[in-house]
Amino acid sequence: MEKFRKLGIIEPILKSIQEQNFEKPSEIQEKSIPLILEGKDVIAEASTGSGKTLAFASVIIKEAERGKGIQALILTPTRELAEQVSNALQRFSKHKHLETTAVYGGVPINPQMRDLRAADIVVGTPGRILDHVSRRTISFRDVKILVLDEADRMLDMGFKDDVERIIKECPSKRQTLLFSATISDDIARLAGKYMHKPVEVSAEAYVDPSKLTQVYYDIEDYNKFSLLVHFLKHEKADLVMVFCNTQRNTDFIADNLKEAGIDALAIHGGHAQQKRTRTLEKFHSKHASVLVCTDVAARGLDIKGVSHIYNYDAPRDIKDYIHRIGRTARAGKEGKVINIIASRDYENFQRVMHNDEFKIKRGETPQIERIMARFKEPRAGGFGRGFNRGDRGFSGQGRRFERGFSRGREQYSREGRYRENDSHSRPYRERENRAEGYRPRREFGHGGNNFRRRSEGSGEHRENRPYQRRDDSRRSEHGSENRTGRFHSRDDRYGGNRRFKRSRNFGGRR
Ligand code: AMP
Repeated sequence: MEKFRKLGIIEPILKSIQEQNFEKPSEIQEKSIPLILEGKDVIAEASTGSGKTLAFASVIIKEAERGKGIQALILTPTRELAEQVSNALQRFSKHKHLETTAVYGGVPINPQMRDLRAADIVVGTPGRILDHVSRRTISFRDVKILVLDEADRMLDMGFKDDVERIIKECPSKRQTLLFSATISDDIARLAGKYMHKPVEVSAEAYVDPSKLTQVYYDIEDYNKFSLLVHFLKHEKADLVMVFCNTQRNTDFIADNLKEAGIDALAIHGGHAQQKRTRTLEKFHSKHASVLVCTDVAARGLDIKGVSHIYNYDAPRDIKDYIHRIGRTARAGKEGKVINIIASRDYENFQRVMHNDEFKIKRGETPQIERIMARFKEPRAGGFGRGFNRGDRGFSGQGRRFERGFSRGREQYSREGRYRENDSHSRPYRERENRAEGYRPRREFGHGGNNFRRRSEGSGEHRENRPYQRRDDSRRSEHGSENRTGRFHSRDDRYGGNRRFKRSRNFGGRR
């Protein structure tokens, strides 16, 4: 306890620390708390489980006073993390009573409005916070401390503009603390723009490398699931997390594990908030020992006792790999990371293997019993067509994915406009979904409004059509059918017209 006291932590927090049986400060706490308590802006390179919450709680609880408006604002990328940080703050402030409110999307807004009136500390996700800003149900007038928690993930999830808008709403005289597992150029730029002479500290990952084993198994696509089941049944494990890249895969794997008699739960951004909370509760209380999840849904969660991490889909980038493995080998416990790699993972996994920091050994594939998956395999963006169809590589499926992705991006910018007009009604879920590879149907332009807008929305487009038809007939008068061939069907006429434009130019030059 003396060590905590020496850092300058106030008595009421020390009491709570004692109750929680913390023996000594973690590395990030040791390095950052003295600076934070001096009132400096601090950039802390620290990941989940490093003990960063206490680092910023130490100053917030010291400075905040009951009933003086919202004096501290903490932005988090996910709802779960908001809830987790809020609970931790409540624990740390048990002996200096302060009101902490968590605000995030996916749950009714009215109770949050009521709670915000009495709040001293607010923890929330950017989308819902901006929602409150536009409704004028939150005021940042009294904010003295602003914390950007898991800043890298907030930027990854596309919250950059939202975060900046919120920062601009806060008084310029404030202390800003930024916590991030990785400090990218974007993070550095954000810090440069909004922080005042920040001091940088970093802590080694809380994960103990000597306790962490990392292996990969190179296996045919059609055997991936069987190998996963084999390990889940044969490896002695405590809690297990199985990571997938998409929501569809997550559901698919969880459903099939259940079919194979394994107690598995799925969690991803496509689930309603209540379901996500319930799932996590079940997992925390060890009612189920396997959690199949996406990176987004699992991000920032402090789940104790995870002994095994399975990468069923290789993570798309190294940051995700770091976050995934950071769930295990914590607090002196052993941990194992098992990468199940098939041809479709090669590209992603190569990036991980190129990084010498990870000591990943190749494992000898054991004799496995072939398990037939019962539920239909997801199609877009995931596997090959059909679970037992062998190694299809990237050919058909890959191309489909790319096509979808570029559409997604195009839509993404369009969403920017939508959001401006429509305040912040649908920010969070969609961003989370997008990060997990899911795009709502309307984004493909086949559905409802979008279709109307595209095909007949602009006057320009509508007027073009009769004009095109006239051109078509003129073209036939000028004997250019030979260039364009048939133009009887609507599509052909449209395509034909484009070709005709070329021929018209040609005619002009002649
Ligand atoms: P955090 O990174 O803040 O989410 O903390 C991760 C977990 O470590 C939480 O369950 C904390 O209660 C716990 N923790 C924080 N600081 C310490 C410490 N000094 N000693 C032991 N556990 C801690």
